[in-house]
Amino acid sequence: MSKPTLSSLTDLRGVGPALATKLQRLGVERPVDLLFVLPFRYEDRTRIVPLGALLPGQRAVVEAEIELTEVAFRGRRTMLCRIADGTGQLTLRFFYFSRAQQQGLARGKRVRCYGEVRKGSAGLEMVHPEYRVLRAGENDQLDEHLTPIYPTTEGVQQGRLRSLIAQVLSSPALIPEDYLPAGLTTADGAELPGLHDAIRYLHTPPPDANLAELASGKHPAQQRLVIEELLAHHLSLSKLRARASGLRARPLTGNDTLERRFIDGLGFTLTGDQQASIDEVRGDLTLSHPMMRLVQGDVGCGKTVVAAVAALLAVGAGSQVAVMAPTELLAEQHRDNFARWLQPLGVSVAWLSGSLKAAQRREVYAAIAGGEANVIVGTHALFQEAVEYAQLGLVIVDEQHRFGVHQRMSLMEKGAAGDYRPHQLVMTATPIPRTLAMTLYADLDVSVIREMPPGRQTVKTAAVSDNRRAEVVTRIREALKSEQRVYWVCPLIEESEALDFQDAESTHAMLTEALPDAAVGLIHGRMKANEKDRVMKRFAAGELQVLVATTVIEVGVDVPEATLMVIENAERMGLAQLHQLRGRVGRGDQQSTCVLIYKAPLSNHARQRLDVMRETNDGFIVAQKDLELRGPGEVLGKRQTGLMQMRVADLSRDAWLLPRVQEAAAMLEHSPEQADAIIARWIVAADAYGNV
Ligand code: ADP
Ligand code: MG
Repeated sequence: MSKPTLSSLTDLRGVGPALATKLQRLGVERPVDLLFVLPFRYEDRTRIVPLGALLPGQRAVVEAEIELTEVAFRGRRTMLCRIADGTGQLTLRFFYFSRAQQQGLARGKRVRCYGEVRKGSAGLEMVHPEYRVLRAGENDQLDEHLTPIYPTTEGVQQGRLRSLIAQVLSSPALIPEDYLPAGLTTADGAELPGLHDAIRYLHTPPPDANLAELASGKHPAQQRLVIEELLAHHLSLSKLRARASGLRARPLTGNDTLERRFIDGLGFTLTGDQQASIDEVRGDLTLSHPMMRLVQGDVGCGKTVVAAVAALLAVGAGSQVAVMAPTELLAEQHRDNFARWLQPLGVSVAWLSGSLKAAQRREVYAAIAGGEANVIVGTHALFQEAVEYAQLGLVIVDEQHRFGVHQRMSLMEKGAAGDYRPHQLVMTATPIPRTLAMTLYADLDVSVIREMPPGRQTVKTAAVSDNRRAEVVTRIREALKSEQRVYWVCPLIEESEALDFQDAESTHAMLTEALPDAAVGLIHGRMKANEKDRVMKRFAAGELQVLVATTVIEVGVDVPEATLMVIENAERMGLAQLHQLRGRVGRGDQQSTCVLIYKAPLSNHARQRLDVMRETNDGFIVAQKDLELRGPGEVLGKRQTGLMQMRVADLSRDAWLLPRVQEAAAMLEHSPEQADAIIARWIVAADAYGNV
């Protein structure tokens, strides 16, 4: 008899076309993919907890005899059922119930319940527990394993998912092969389980498994999978890089006259890091495959100057350059800089954005197609179907974290001309530690600018508790007297955008009242992009002196007159995010200040994080500390790690495993089939990434 092969979802018992479609929506294409749908928490239904041992907050199975069931009318019609087991009592509370339910819960019967215990008005209770009335003498089986709970399963019930996963786990043909090189399978000195054991453990943990450890994500079985998932991402990005190096690009060399004239006219000397980055870019541009380089450096370190030199090298070699920013406002800022710097050198700078009128747009299209436009600055509009470049040789992308790997690749495609792909230079102001960068940006070469231009002032940072808000308002009044401008940021801290909005709105009302002589603006996430742009522009122009914002204030927008940044709920934010916000001030020549408002009392972790902000202005130090100081369960900005969709890995928790991941990746370099197998296991959209 031949073994069933289980190659397609419908080969599984109980799966028809309809369920298969639902599973595909969860990213499950093949039976083996089910193994990688991992639980995000567990329930313990393996043992009965005596009522006397229950604690508030605990989820537990209990079994006891009904002493009394009654319907109470205290405000709301409620059914209360008191049960006891000789060690203690518990109340079951129901707000919705039928007559039949009430009759079924008769005095003297035994029930088994599962639910969350909480403190009620008369001792411990469970609200709407799952329950079953046991027949006389019935001894119902308990579960043998902890019960896994899977993330959103849209139309696929938990029980169904569990039984499908059990089917796959018990079919020997589907045991995933373990490719992780020996020696890389320990963490913290402990031997990690093999891939299959780890998977089996996480889907069916034994009753004595350490729930707290599992909840922290640091169980050896989880860490084994984390390493593998990070490895999968690393490998897929490395593969992209390898593909890029197999593509053709026109070398952009020959003429550095423009570059020299530009640098001579700058009026300042380049920093060593700027010079080094420029040299790296120049080197890349001489090659006949596309440059894929990221320039990483704090706000104000001078990345745009590096980009301008790159543009001039390309133009000097007879190419066009596209400069793309994620928002219209940022794009305008680049347009102004590039025009100011390049036009005096005889280089034409064109502007292309979605808001151009049809006639203007046609004109720009013609200049691009005819080659009269040398440097074209704009938003996504730069890569619309209708745009045809005469000779695009270089694409410069600002603020990389807004664009994903996908966009990076598709840009390259859209810019393709025949066999040739444009070179790419990406700029980001999000400093990340080296180990992280090696995996997050495994498809890019990275240049780092750490050195700030000389004489750059540092932003003074203070932390104050929220009962000192009045003092902060006084400080704003002082700043306004000398024509300075002020940001007040109310970050998203609740899951609900509505609450977030309320926060910002009430702050706006408070400041409008407290500062009758100032114009106070408001900008928040519910506004349309062009409305946000309009408010930002009014603030930049000084029509508004105070700007209340949720975290949407545009990264990179330059308002040199802004000297005071107030950030609410600072204790709940990630350091990287605080640093980004702080970078909005200190851009002119006046001394700037950042005030971090926190709710007392501060946890130890929060205190340390705020101290880091007070002690340093260096984005790379902040980023490193951010990784070190993340406390369990604290609400933190996801921004930095939002670049990748992960199933088990969490870069902020698991970054310490990255050196091992990089080692493993290096060892798999010569085993492309194994690398592909690992990628395919973890990254469902692997094809979408790789389809260059
Ligand atoms: P970034 O894009 O990294 O935020 P910019 O390139 O916009 O930084 O530079 C910020 C400001 O510093 C600009 O006004 C720029 O002209 C100036 N600048 C850049 N490099 C230097 C330097 N080496 N010395 C002095 N000023 C510089
Ligand atoms: Mg910039």
